[in-house]
Amino acid sequence: MSSKDFKMKGSSTVAVHGGNEPDPMYSHITPIYASSTFYFDTAEQGMERFAGEDKTQIYTRLGNPGFKVAEQKIAALEAHGITGQDGNPLQLKALLHASGQAAMSTLFLSTCKPGDKILTHFSLYGGTQELLTKVVEEHQIEIIVADLRNPELAAKAMETPGIRLVHIETPANPTLSCVDISLISEMAKQKGYLVSVDNTFASPYLQQPFKYPGVDFVFHSTTKYLNGHGSAIGGVLLGRDLEFMKTKVWKWHVLLGGNANPFDCYLLIQGMKTLELRMDRHCSNAMVVAEYLEKHPQVEKVMFTGLPSHPDHAIAKKQMKNFGGMLSFEVKGGIEAGVRFINRLQLCTRAVSLGTLDTLVSHPASMSHVGVPKAERESYGITDGLIRMSVGIENIEDILTDLEQALQ
Ligand SMILES: *Cc1c(COP(=O)(O)O)cnc(C)c1O
Repeated sequence: MSSKDFKMKGSSTVAVHGGNEPDPMYSHITPIYASSTFYFDTAEQGMERFAGEDKTQIYTRLGNPGFKVAEQKIAALEAHGITGQDGNPLQLKALLHASGQAAMSTLFLSTCKPGDKILTHFSLYGGTQELLTKVVEEHQIEIIVADLRNPELAAKAMETPGIRLVHIETPANPTLSCVDISLISEMAKQKGYLVSVDNTFASPYLQQPFKYPGVDFVFHSTTKYLNGHGSAIGGVLLGRDLEFMKTKVWKWHVLLGGNANPFDCYLLIQGMKTLELRMDRHCSNAMVVAEYLEKHPQVEKVMFTGLPSHPDHAIAKKQMKNFGGMLSFEVKGGIEAGVRFINRLQLCTRAVSLGTLDTLVSHPASMSHVGVPKAERESYGITDGLIRMSVGIENIEDILTDLEQALQ
């Protein structure tokens, strides 16, 4: 079933069929191999597995049949339709982790050593920012922050001696700030720097950073759109340099011990198969919600990359197939109005995280950023009345009805 004499053209076909392995028991769905270890028939067979001559698994921290399918499927989605520098279809290596944070730790620690520097854009997911400033920086790896949307500031920042890695997140969580992947990766490549892209908000269906030869790594929190159902935590790190991924990166990954688990991996594999269907609906619903909110008298402003009013609309349009399902908006009346709106919702779920089937709504000023001083959070766009929304796949009329009654 896995051998085809034609190339799969569509990304949904890749999501359903890509990466699958024939099962010795003829199981149609990739089973859950809930086993910590895998036996050897003979000592010689054990030796062959440790030497890498026999690819059968050994021990689940080092690999599991389910992890292999999930990794191959994500790699197939990220590489789909891209030709490598040798003229053949692009080959990628993916490593599945217990969480996005675990995959991010592997990325930073396997690429940088004390004395190296990491250049990032000013807008990053809070967990990434904390990992960089509270963990990575304690290991004498300096973090440089710049507005990488501005080519002059980016060029100036790249003059800093000692940079090893340029890490960008586009669109960024929660500001939706977008960075030009083509431009930044090309500038970095000329300097010989590694480049990593957090592609969580877009998903590989909407954006494929490996199209740009200067991109070395792509990261996803699989917790979000790849799983798509809010049923498991996970993260993945993909790399273009197969040898580097299989040696240095793999070593850090298995020795730090942030491996996935077979049950969460099973949920991820099932979820990924409907990625394209879900994303199309997330995108079309978000566009309608954004246009509705933009006209609403109780709404001060709407931040959605699909609206021409968003400052990064042109970059998003250039590098993404569609604009995704994430938006934020400001209700008039400050923090009380924000709290009141959130409390009146009857259909949308009050929760952090994103990329689930249901619409999730959060109020950063009273939730995720309650501990951040007002002046600081406002400096990166998190104002009192800001509402963040992960638009789900419900029927649009019901989402609008809920918003309408909550905004009254
Ligand atoms: C959630 C998220 C992460 C962290 O992933 P976890 O699975 O929560 O560890 C990293 N980057 C972005 C953009 C995210 O949204």
